[in-house]
Amino acid sequence: MDSIYDYTLEELKLKLKPSFRAKQVYNWIYKKYVSSYDDMKNIPNELKDNLKNNYAIDILKIVKKEKSSDGSIKYLFELNDNHTIEAVLLLMKKKKINDDGTIERSEKYTVCISTQVGCKIGCTFCLTAKGGFVRNLSVGEIVNQIVQIKKDNDISENKSLNIVYMGMGEPLDNYKNFVHSVKVFSEKDGLYISKRRITVSTSGISSKIEKLGEEDLGIQLAISLHAVDDGLRSELIPMNKAYNIKSIIDAVKKFPVDTRKKVMFEYLVIKNKNDDIASAKKLLQLLDGIKAKVNLIYFNPYPGTSYQRPQSSDMIKFQDYLTGKGLLCTIRESKGLDISAACGQLKEKETNGDS
Ligand code: SAH
Ligand code: SF4
Repeated sequence: MDSIYDYTLEELKLKLKPSFRAKQVYNWIYKKYVSSYDDMKNIPNELKDNLKNNYAIDILKIVKKEKSSDGSIKYLFELNDNHTIEAVLLLMKKKKINDDGTIERSEKYTVCISTQVGCKIGCTFCLTAKGGFVRNLSVGEIVNQIVQIKKDNDISENKSLNIVYMGMGEPLDNYKNFVHSVKVFSEKDGLYISKRRITVSTSGISSKIEKLGEEDLGIQLAISLHAVDDGLRSELIPMNKAYNIKSIIDAVKKFPVDTRKKVMFEYLVIKNKNDDIASAKKLLQLLDGIKAKVNLIYFNPYPGTSYQRPQSSDMIKFQDYLTGKGLLCTIRESKGLDISAACGQLKEKETNGDS
C-alpha cells in the first residue's frame, strides 16, 4: 500500500475529492503530526475510510532511542516489513536563555536520515555495508523520519531544521525516491524546509551527480571522497573502480552551486591510511578550481574492523595545512559519539542483542 507521506501537495490534490481536502490532510500530518486518520477532526468519515483503505499512515515505529550527552538523539525505526533503519537528531546549538528569562537563541537542529535498508556500495569502513543491501526506502519512509522526530521532540511546526541525507544507504542509488522526498520536504503547506538547508551526501556515483546537477534542485552536495588516489579509494569504496576520482571531480565541476554555498568534501580519516600531509597536499590540488570546503571525519571504530581512529594531533595538522592554504576545513565534531553516531552502528547493536 502507498503511504500518505508519498506525495507532494499537487499529487495528493489529484487523489482526493474535493481537492481542498488535500491541504487539510497535509496540515494534520505535517503541522500537527497526527498518526491516525481518526484524529483528523475536520475530515468527513467517508473520506477517512477512503484514506484508511488506500494510504498507510502508520509506517515507522520508534523501537529504540539513544540519547547522547551532547543532546543528540539516535533513533531506530522499524518499518512495516520489520526491517530497521536509523536517523539521528543532532543538536547543533543549544537554546540560550537570558537572565531575564527571554530566549536569546533557540535550538538549532540537523536531522540525519536514511534512504535504504542496507547499502549496495560496500564501503569497507562502514557498518551499514556489512549487512548487504535489502531494499530502497519509499518516499514516505524517507519523509516520515523527519515527522516522527519532530513529533517526538515537540519541535514546533514552524521551527526550521536542516536535513542531511547521511544515514544508512546511498541516496543517489535510490535516486527517484530521494528526489521526490526533497520535493515533499520543501512543500510550503507541509514541512516547508528550504532546499538550501538540505544536503545530500553521496559516495560518488558520478553519473547520478551529473543528473542531479541537471535537475538543479537547489540542494547542497556533499561528496564522500575519503581518499586522494584511486588505489586507496578503491580499497575503501569498491565502486571507485567504476566511478573514479577524476569522474567525480568532473561531475562536481558541472554541478550548480548557490553563490553563497560550497560543495562539501567529506574525508574520513583513518590512522596510517590517509592521515598524512602528502594526502592533504594532494587533496588541495584535486579541489583546485572548485568552491569547496572539507570536513574531516574521525573514523569511528567498531568490533571486527582493522581500521583505526586517527590521532587528534594528525587531524589538526591535516586541517592546519589546508586552512593555511586558504581552504575551509572543519573537523566533524564527534556529535553523538557516545551513541555511536556513524551510520549503521545502532542497528548493529540491536541485531547482536548486546545493548
Ligand atoms: N552513502 C552516503 C551517505 C551515507 S554514509 C555516503 O557514503 O556519503 C554517511 C557517512 O557516514 C559517510 O560520510 C561515511 O563516510 C560515514 N561513515 C560510515 N562509516 C563510518 C565510520 N565507521 N566512522 C565514521 N564515519 C563513518
Ligand atoms: Fe553505503 Fe555510504 Fe556506508 Fe558506503 S559509507 S556503504 S555508500 S552508506
